[in-house]
Amino acid sequence: MSGETVQRGEALAAAVAALPGVGPRRAGVFQRLGLSTVGRLLRHYPSRYEWEEAESPISALAPEAVVSARGEVTATRSVMRGKRRFEAVLSDGTGRLDLVWFNGTYLRDRIKPGVRLRVQGKGRRFGPGIQIVNPRWEEIKPEREEPSAKRARLRPVYPATEDLGSREIEAAVLSALPGALGGVADHLGEAFRRERAMPGLAEAVRMIHAPESDEEVAAARRRLAYDELLLQQLAVALKRAHQRRTTRAPALRWSKEIDAAIRRRLPFDLTPGQEAAVGEIVADLTREAPANRLIQGDVGSGKTAVAVYAMLLAAASKKQAALMAPTEILAEQHFASITRLLEGSKVGIDLLTGSLPSSEREGVVARAASGETDLLIGTHALLTEGVRFADLAVAVIDEQHRFGVHQRAALREKADDPSSAPHVLVMTATPIPRTLSLTVFGDLDVSLIKGLPPGRIPVTTRVVGPDKSREVYAYVRGRLDRGEQAYVVAPAIDSGDDGGAADVRSVMRRLEEGEFAGKRLAALHGRLKRETRERIMERFRLGQIDALVATTVIEVGVDVPNASVMVVEQADRFGLSQLHQLRGRVGRGSARSLCVLIAAPATADGEARVAAMADTTDGFALAERDLELRGPGEVLGSRQSGEAPFRIAEFPRDVDLLLMARRDAQAWVERSPLLDLPEEKLLRARLLRAHGDEIGLADVA
Ligand code: ADP
Ligand code: MG
Repeated sequence: MSGETVQRGEALAAAVAALPGVGPRRAGVFQRLGLSTVGRLLRHYPSRYEWEEAESPISALAPEAVVSARGEVTATRSVMRGKRRFEAVLSDGTGRLDLVWFNGTYLRDRIKPGVRLRVQGKGRRFGPGIQIVNPRWEEIKPEREEPSAKRARLRPVYPATEDLGSREIEAAVLSALPGALGGVADHLGEAFRRERAMPGLAEAVRMIHAPESDEEVAAARRRLAYDELLLQQLAVALKRAHQRRTTRAPALRWSKEIDAAIRRRLPFDLTPGQEAAVGEIVADLTREAPANRLIQGDVGSGKTAVAVYAMLLAAASKKQAALMAPTEILAEQHFASITRLLEGSKVGIDLLTGSLPSSEREGVVARAASGETDLLIGTHALLTEGVRFADLAVAVIDEQHRFGVHQRAALREKADDPSSAPHVLVMTATPIPRTLSLTVFGDLDVSLIKGLPPGRIPVTTRVVGPDKSREVYAYVRGRLDRGEQAYVVAPAIDSGDDGGAADVRSVMRRLEEGEFAGKRLAALHGRLKRETRERIMERFRLGQIDALVATTVIEVGVDVPNASVMVVEQADRFGLSQLHQLRGRVGRGSARSLCVLIAAPATADGEARVAAMADTTDGFALAERDLELRGPGEVLGSRQSGEAPFRIAEFPRDVDLLLMARRDAQAWVERSPLLDLPEEKLLRARLLRAHGDEIGLADVA
């Protein structure tokens, strides 16, 4: 390392304690915010900016304008009667400025005669002088007396805590900047930056903390957001390139005959949306590069048939396939329906779930390991210790609306030979907004199943108050009498579960004795034994049960086309994607389906969710709405993504930057697959620091 580089690094590595504005006394407070070094301090970006007017002497302040001044408090008064307010008089020797804060009496302990203040606000004529109502103010401490602001400027507002205010952070940053900026080395070359009209990194850091104008703030944000996105996309691209270089998947055979044989097994013609997805999957699976594909299709779009096609393609090449479902009920349903499809064929199929008795489990595991099983259907139990495949070619993760990264990795390791990996397909029922699929799921190719199978009539959704439930159930009763079937969903199993939640037991009792008397009802929830659950689902499917009263165990995947009515009790207690999934259980046949949400929302969010459900049946629109209501971390439901993935980049605002970063990252890795050129040293170091762990970059590059 050259002497210059060492010095550069030192400026940023210096402790904040060494800064004149901080000192050892305040350093601890900075440390608690994670701001131990100058480098970290400079990466603590403002969350917004305030416009600050130039200061004038009080005698020169004009009324009817935003004005700014400083002076000493000469008198204060709390008015407790009528309109409660706090008043202060500010004087700078040239004149007197009257300040008033309505409901501001709490200020009397902080603003006292003798204290020096800077204030800003809209001035108005007040007797002979000027008054500001509810001014913005800050105390000027003698040890930090700044020269008065000669001209208007933007002031950064930093994320702060009770102990450490934005102004103190600003002072520390300002004292650090001059010495530190020279130490900010740029990991992007000048030509590369110029092509993209990006400022240098040091310049961007200066502009984010001490901007001269709104344009500078925008330019700095653009550069810093791009950096975050580029690093993330580079990490993803490197990982993929590494995977392509080091692992092979079995290239499956495909021919017109194989295709025709698979289609003969399906009870319907594929929709154009399914055809498109199948086309992309065939292209993937017939190559040696391990496929890693996300199949997005709204609830009811027919993802199962696409998964079955992929699995049968593996079987046609005498290789194995696995299908992993998120719940036992869904795994059991897949097992039952695929077994039916394969009746009379030689394909061997097994089911592996957590509730399988260990004696049966041993047999299932042995058959998978010997290769006797062609298709293994299951839950997370597939990922457990001891499950091995003789020749796993295709792994499908069904109804994956969570992160899935770990499951994919775990499934990939189920192949015996480390240099061979199965093709992985992830089916997602919760549509993932495009921006998220590009960032969090950036290492996946994406197929979209557009449209629904023919003959579907959109589900009608009604939101009603609990006082209408009698009418609702009486109406549903009429539909049951005509041979339709219904789901009634409650948030809890029994009343002990959650104070105030409607529960399956009491809803069951009420319906049995009341509106549904004489109908065939069954309760379904997670505490039932597997055989009981399987029997109930089977009887429901055969039409021997009229209505299921269930918890959210039926949320995903369950497919009984004759069920055309759903009632959700206390619907505001469910999340938006959950409600969309639940509603997706009806509207699967050709009957006109109905979904009734019974709710008396206790929160604004609950209200917004049921309103959104009544508004649209489009899963993508609902997912975007969900993203607005909850933020990306929550939507993905994973710890990793719960931490804000980016400090500056923000969606949907920065989608264009994201797309640019993605293109740039892909081109970059093609040009330099190991990122090991001398001029890439800094970029590589920063990439490792930001994303090294999460993607195992150490062994990638
Ligand atoms: P998803 O998993 O995408 O929610 P499913 O795979 O469960 O949807 O399919 C929903 C329903 O539509 C099922 O009853 C299925 O049999 C039916 N279905 C799927 N594809 C077609 C098709 N091409 N034509 C007619 N019905 C279809
Ligand atoms: Mg499904």
